[in-house]
Amino acid sequence: IGANLARTVARFGDRDALVDVGGGRRWTYAEFGRAVEEVALGLLAKGVAKGERVGIWAVNCPEWVLIQYATARIGAVMVNVNPAYRVHELGYVLRQAGVGVLVASTAYKTSDYRHMTGQVRGDCPGLRDVVFIGDSTWDELVELGRGTDPALLAAREATLSCHDAINIQYTSGTTGFPKGATLSHRNILNNGHLVGEGLGYGEEDRIALPVPFYHCFGMVMGNLAATSHGACIVIPAPVFDATATLHAVERERCTSLYGVPTMFIAELGLPDFATYDLSSLRTGIMAGSPCPSEVMKRVVAEMHMAEVAICYGMTETSPVSTQTRRDDDLERRTGTVGLVLPHTEVKITDPVTGATVGRGEPGELCTRGHGVMLGYWDDPARTAEVVDAEGWMHTGDLAEMDEDGYVRIVGRIKDMIIRGGENVYPREIEEFLHTHPKIADVQVVGVPDAKYGEEIMACVVLRDPADPLTREELAAYCDGRLAHYKVPRHLRVMDAFPMTVSGKVRKVELREQGAALLG
Ligand code: ATP
Ligand code: MG
Repeated sequence: IGANLARTVARFGDRDALVDVGGGRRWTYAEFGRAVEEVALGLLAKGVAKGERVGIWAVNCPEWVLIQYATARIGAVMVNVNPAYRVHELGYVLRQAGVGVLVASTAYKTSDYRHMTGQVRGDCPGLRDVVFIGDSTWDELVELGRGTDPALLAAREATLSCHDAINIQYTSGTTGFPKGATLSHRNILNNGHLVGEGLGYGEEDRIALPVPFYHCFGMVMGNLAATSHGACIVIPAPVFDATATLHAVERERCTSLYGVPTMFIAELGLPDFATYDLSSLRTGIMAGSPCPSEVMKRVVAEMHMAEVAICYGMTETSPVSTQTRRDDDLERRTGTVGLVLPHTEVKITDPVTGATVGRGEPGELCTRGHGVMLGYWDDPARTAEVVDAEGWMHTGDLAEMDEDGYVRIVGRIKDMIIRGGENVYPREIEEFLHTHPKIADVQVVGVPDAKYGEEIMACVVLRDPADPLTREELAAYCDGRLAHYKVPRHLRVMDAFPMTVSGKVRKVELREQGAALLG
C-alpha cells in the first residue's frame, strides 16, 4: 500500500487527494503523502513495532485516512474500532485484538471518546498510549514524526511483504456478534484498485464518501479505490447526513457517490432534493445490503448517476466479490449484483451437499481469490468453519448465477423464513413492496407463529407519515401479485429501522421486536 501511494503521489502530486468539507480542510496528493509520512514516522518514534496493533476509534475525518496509510507504511495492524461502541465494547475489542496504541476522536455528539477511553485503560494493560485527534496529543505525534529520520521508515518498509496482516476489520454484526477479519495489503489493495477500475476511476474523479471509514465500504472501496487511481476522497460530514452529503456533492463537483440503500433513500426523500445541482455525478456504488431495484432506478434517473454500480461482498473478502459493469443495461445495473470481480472465483453450491448447482438455481455463494481474508483474528477454529481447505469462503448468502455470469442475491441463509414448510425469502417480498407508492423503505422478517411455525411481518417506513397504510390496504396490494403464503400477515409501521454503524438494518433486532410485539 505504501508503494502504491508513493506512485500516485509521484504522478498526481498537485491534484486534490482529500477534502474535509465540514472542517474546511484539503490536501493535494503531495501534501497528503507528506502528512502520511509524518504520522508514520511519529508512530515509529513511539516504538510501534511491525505487526503491533494500532486502534482507530473515530468518526470520519481526515486523520482517519492518515492513520490508515501511516499504519500500512510501517506494517502495523490497524484495528477498526466501531465509533458507536461504548465502554464495555471498547474494552472488549482493545483486549481481544491486543491494541498497543489507540488513536481516537475526542468527542462526537453524545460519545465522549476521551472519557470512555479513560474508563477502560485500567482493564487494558496492553494499551500503552492514546492519541486524540484534534488535541495536543495529535500535534505531538506529528511533531515527533517531523523530528524523526525518514531513513527509519525506509528501513521498516524494506521488511514488509504484501502478505503481512495490516488490518483487523470487524463485520457489521447484522447476524450476531461482530467477527474480526484479519486482512493483508494484498487483500485490500487489490480490492480497492479493482473496484475503482470497474468504475473507470482516474485523477478527474472526486468521490463523496458518506459511508463510515470504519467499514470496508469506506476504507477499501472508497479510500483505496481513490488513492490507487489518483482520485480525490471527499468527506461530507463525520457521520452520514443526507443534507451534508448532497451539499458536498454540489460544492466539490463530485463525480461519484457511495451509500447503502437507506442513505440513498434518505437523500432522495429530502424535501429540498430537487434544489441540489448533482450534474457533476457520473457514477457511484450502492452496496452493503439488498439494493432494491426501485431505489436504484431512481438513483440512475434522478441523481444523474447513469453508471452507478451495485457491489456485493463481505468484510471477510476485503470486501467485493461481484460488481456491475459501466456498460450494463438498466435491468442488470439495477437488478443484479453484477459479474465476478477480475482474478476472483465464484461458485454457487448446494449448502447441504456442497455440489455446484446449475445456472439459475439458488445456492450458497462461495468465493476464492486475492480477497479472502487471512482469517478471523486469533480464531482459527472459526476461520475453518467458513474458509475451506481449498480456500473457498462460504458466505452464508444465497445467490443465483445466470448464463452470462450475472449474479443475483436471493437473501441470507439465516434470514430465510420457513412458513408452513414453504421457504420464503424476505428479499423478494421487500423488492415487491418497494413498488408501493406509500412505502419509502421496507424490511421483511419472520416472527413465531403457533400454526405455521413462522409468519411474515412487513416493517415499513412511510413516505408520508401523515398518509397511513393499513394491513388491509397492503393485503389488497399483494393480492394476485404475490403467492398467498408470501403475503405479510403482520404490518408494523416505524419511523426508522434499528441500524448498524455500517448502515445495515439489524434484522435480528427487528425479528426480536416483532416477536415481542406479538407477545
Ligand atoms: P455479520 O457477519 O457480523 O452478521 P454482516 O455480514 O452484515 O454482519 P458485512 O461483512 O458488513 O457484515 O456484510 C456482508 C453481508 O452484507 C453479505 O454477507 C451480504 O449478506 C450483505 N450484502 C452485501 N452487499 C450486498 C448486496 N449488494 N446485496 C445483498 N446483500 C449484500
Ligand atoms: Mg457476515
